[in-house]
Amino acid sequence: MQFIDTHIHLQDYKEKNTPQILASAKAVGVEGFVCASVQEEDWETIINLSKQDVSIIPALGIHPWSIAQVRPGWEKKLAQKLEEFPQAIVGECGLDRLKNSDWEKQQEIFITQLSLAKHYNRPLIIHCVKAQEMLTNIHSQLPKVFVLHSYYGKGEFMHQILQWGGYISFSFSILRHPQKEKIIRQVPSERLLLETDGPYQGLEKKENYPDNLPNLAETIAAIRGETIEHFSQQVYQNSQRFIHGK
Ligand SMILES: [Zn+2]
Repeated sequence: MQFIDTHIHLQDYKEKNTPQILASAKAVGVEGFVCASVQEEDWETIINLSKQDVSIIPALGIHPWSIAQVRPGWEKKLAQKLEEFPQAIVGECGLDRLKNSDWEKQQEIFITQLSLAKHYNRPLIIHCVKAQEMLTNIHSQLPKVFVLHSYYGKGEFMHQILQWGGYISFSFSILRHPQKEKIIRQVPSERLLLETDGPYQGLEKKENYPDNLPNLAETIAAIRGETIEHFSQQVYQNSQRFIHGK
């Protein structure tokens, strides 16, 4: 079986031993890694990682928690990087009302990244916490291919996202959702992605590694009543489609 971890922060592990982390994951079938940045400082690190190992797909963006640190000209630099690296995805970016440092600025920075994804025809990774109203208001500006990562919202909102053409990605956090069965079963099979969001969002309070991804796939497949073989093949195809902007 083959898997792709569609959201991980390789730059954030305490032990900076990326080759080891990737080798353990590849040994259990995880063969692709979308490495998500949260701030401008991450872009170069992630690009360098992707040069060392082609299984790493860089995702370049500004996370809503990082907006206080943005430097003037960031959007120009991001545009340059996207031009230079045609495989790069945009993200992670988004809206977060729990960490509402500057709501106006959050929206402005998010919308800029939407238009860059659109302009360069790249998939987009969205982080959305308590901000579904804002996302609804601007949904017509979303690029063709996007994902709501580590989905933990309501079933109704998920249907909206699916209607707008988005993918839904689950991490281990969905297993804590009070309505996890209903939500997990309602995603159409061709719209579902999986991620660890490592080193974060593990079930236990320790670093979460990408070799945990097959466990997540097994749990989700069981909840959906599908065989792991069939389910993982479908999710693998979805991940490939997503990465290639389809
Ligand atoms: Zn993340």
